[in-house]
Amino acid sequence: MEFNERTIKVIIDEEKCEGCKTHACVDACKTYSRGILILKDGKPAVEGSPEDLARKGTECLACEYECWFRGNSAITIEVPVEGLADYSKKHGTE
Ligand code: SF4
Repeated sequence: MEFNERTIKVIIDEEKCEGCKTHACVDACKTYSRGILILKDGKPAVEGSPEDLARKGTECLACEYECWFRGNSAITIEVPVEGLADYSKKHGTE
């Protein structure tokens, strides 16, 4: 599943959540952000409209970090950086 905050996209590979005992992403969201990630049927989920999520999300990246260290590395967050593609092309670091 995936959802967007204001500028980032959070992608969760739910197959990797099978057997996760910590659900660290949900704890992290509650602790460091506004708790938009909730636990539903044993997996992380979000509630609310895309507009709500964009408004409430603080783009703190805590779910991804905590999932790396305490979960099953199921979360990828895409953070678009304006001008990065051009910069990489110019400096040969694509
Ligand atoms: S911590 Fe990672 S593996 Fe565990 S439920 Fe959350 S996203 Fe899934």
